[in-house]
Amino acid sequence: MKFANLSIRNKIALVSIIQFTVVIILVGLILNLFVSKLTVREVRNNLLATAQSRSSHIETYLKDNIQLLQLVTSRTALRKALASYNETGSEADLATLTNIIKDAITPIAQFERICILGLSGKVVASTSEGYCGKDASSANFFIGGLKSEGIYFLEEEGGYKLYISGPMILDDKVIGVGMTVLRLDGLEDIVSNRTGLGETGEVLVAFHNAAGEREYPVRRLFEEAAAPLNVQNEEIAYPMKQALAGKADYFENALDYRNQKVEAASSFIEIANLGLVAKIDRSEILEINRQILMLILVIFIIFFFVYYFISKKVSYFISKPIADLHRGIEQIGGGNLDYKVGTQAQDEIGQLSRSFDSMVESIAESRAEVDKRVEEQTKELSSKTKVLENQKSAILNILEDVEEEKEKSQQLASDLEKFKLAVENASDHIVITDAEGIILYANKGVERITGFSSEEVLGHKAGSKENWGGLMDEKVYQDLWQKIKKEKKAFVGELKNHRKNGEEYDVKVGISPILDEKGEVVFFVGIELDVTKERQVDKAKTEFVSLASHQLRTPLSAINWYAEMLLAGDAGKLSKKQKDFVDEIYNGNQRMVSLVNALLNVSRIELGTLAIDPKPTDFSAMAESVLGELKKIITEKELVIESKYDNSLPQIDADPNIIRIIFQNLLTNSVKYTPEKGKVMVVLEKKEPNILIKIADTGYGIPSDQKERIFEKMFRADNVKERDAGGTGLGLYLVKAIVEDAGGKIWFESPSLAFGKASAFIEISADKSAGKKETPGTTFFITLPLSGMQKKEGSKTLSEEKL
Ligand code: ADP
Repeated sequence: MKFANLSIRNKIALVSIIQFTVVIILVGLILNLFVSKLTVREVRNNLLATAQSRSSHIETYLKDNIQLLQLVTSRTALRKALASYNETGSEADLATLTNIIKDAITPIAQFERICILGLSGKVVASTSEGYCGKDASSANFFIGGLKSEGIYFLEEEGGYKLYISGPMILDDKVIGVGMTVLRLDGLEDIVSNRTGLGETGEVLVAFHNAAGEREYPVRRLFEEAAAPLNVQNEEIAYPMKQALAGKADYFENALDYRNQKVEAASSFIEIANLGLVAKIDRSEILEINRQILMLILVIFIIFFFVYYFISKKVSYFISKPIADLHRGIEQIGGGNLDYKVGTQAQDEIGQLSRSFDSMVESIAESRAEVDKRVEEQTKELSSKTKVLENQKSAILNILEDVEEEKEKSQQLASDLEKFKLAVENASDHIVITDAEGIILYANKGVERITGFSSEEVLGHKAGSKENWGGLMDEKVYQDLWQKIKKEKKAFVGELKNHRKNGEEYDVKVGISPILDEKGEVVFFVGIELDVTKERQVDKAKTEFVSLASHQLRTPLSAINWYAEMLLAGDAGKLSKKQKDFVDEIYNGNQRMVSLVNALLNVSRIELGTLAIDPKPTDFSAMAESVLGELKKIITEKELVIESKYDNSLPQIDADPNIIRIIFQNLLTNSVKYTPEKGKVMVVLEKKEPNILIKIADTGYGIPSDQKERIFEKMFRADNVKERDAGGTGLGLYLVKAIVEDAGGKIWFESPSLAFGKASAFIEISADKSAGKKETPGTTFFITLPLSGMQKKEGSKTLSEEKL
């Protein structure tokens, strides 16, 4: 478990326990160090003191015994008896001596025996039987005893005995030596006294025997455990050697005769040349240390638990407000905003908890406010959700529609792709430009027809110098641009233009402005069809027709003259039958002439060889003149002719031949295609800047399904073909070409409105059973500029038709 994850309470407890432990360990270590030092010092002092005190004790004991011996030997009676014996050698003196010493030894328990030696070294008296008469003249206690009191250890009966001897003096003369054998019990008691030596301590005493070896007069305490008993090892012997050398010293970490580590102190008892060593096992000292340590440890453990308990309590008291605060936060976090931590503590945590309570109070208030708002907003949201639901379903519907539209669009796109491919590969020249004529698209046909590649033309203006439009006639191009751009109308027509290589070509052109909803040009689509070859073929055909017609004119003229001559009777009078046949020839020839004339006129128009020679022309006079030419047939058909000529009409600079051809064709048609008793009306009006020519009739009219083809070359409507076989279908074609060439227009309406509904003509069929039949009538309208026609030099003028 990480420290950071612990509760504050445990942290406080842990920290204080760690602090405590560290302190205790330090204290323990210091204490241990101190105690062990102290122990060692104590042991040292103790051992030194023991060595010293035991030495003194032994010394005192020995001195006391010396004194006791002196007390015994200094008795006057004894000394006198000895002196007397030395002189006399009387038995009585001996008895006196013996009695006195026997008497003297009785209270002195430690004296084993007392002996009195004569100057010769012979035992003269003894408290114990068997010693009298023994010669001790060579014994050191006798030799030394003559001079002064001394102490000697002598081997006796398998052990050592302590001898004390001293001179016996009478009248300043040595008369003998007093000697006592001291029981070793007293010495042994002192040595073996364990006071201050603990469990393993002991005191040893030794002396040097006559051979200079160390001898231990009293039994050693742990002798039984020692092996070998008398170790002559330098290290082991060291403290005692030092003691025997007269040194009082201390030995750390010495070895004793048991080979045990010991602490030892030495001293020397001069009076008896005794070395003394007090020693104690190091293990015991360490044991003491260990016990002190154990004690410290026990105290530490007790302290630890006490401290642990206290720190637990303390940390509990310190952390309780925090825990309360935490519980409070949990409660509040769980949603119980009414909960109060309510800590009374005056410390920072107490203040914090009170601030927390007041904060929670204000949170509770704002939460109530928020709840209220949330409730309101939830209501609002639920209503919005409904709206959204509706919107969603609407959107889903739209999406479905969009999906359908998408499918359609995809279909459209694929159609469009096909369409694009078709356009791209169409044989026609197809171009799309923007509203300013800048080319946005050009198909392959453009290059094929104009010689300009699409790379060359894209991004350029169609009419610019570097494009085919620039090779076009300036005027034609301006008219075209005026129409499509300014008037926003489609331009349809045939043009001559030049290819990139300068070659001339003919095209049918259709340029349409594409407008937006506001009627503004968005772009233009131009389609051109190269009709050069067709035109060349047409030209060849027209030239052929022209040639053939010319060739036919001469024989037809001859036929005409001869027929006229025959009818005039120049070749003799004709029978009725002959006259009928010649009439047929003449009429047929007339039709041929008019056909050839028409063909010639058409070929001149088409070949552009028609000359225009404008002169001031009176249109009304021209109309009247033509009507005059038609008088015969008008009368035959009992047609009613109405003519309305505007008085203000000026004379117009126009080619009279051409104007005549116009009136001839239109009026001939009206007369031809109007049944008997019908009406024909000619109206000339001034409609600035034009003259309007209206030629109306109450005739058969033009069937609506054929109206579009009426100006086509050699076209005749079905309703007239059955009634009149003589038409060529070239008249209207020619008129239209002439009018448009002169800058005018031609159109018609059928049924005609010129006579009003009431005046609708009723045809009375020749076949009575067919009954009456309404004819719709036709009105042709022509406008020509009042300004007249432009003069044109040409090789040919128009041939007039003659009926
Ligand atoms: P056509 O020689 O047949 O008269 P046009 O070119 O003059 O040839 O006229 C072409 C056709 O137009 C006629 O065949 C006829 O069907 C129709 N047409 C022309 N004028 C009239 C008219 N006034 N009333 C009815 N049909 C007419």
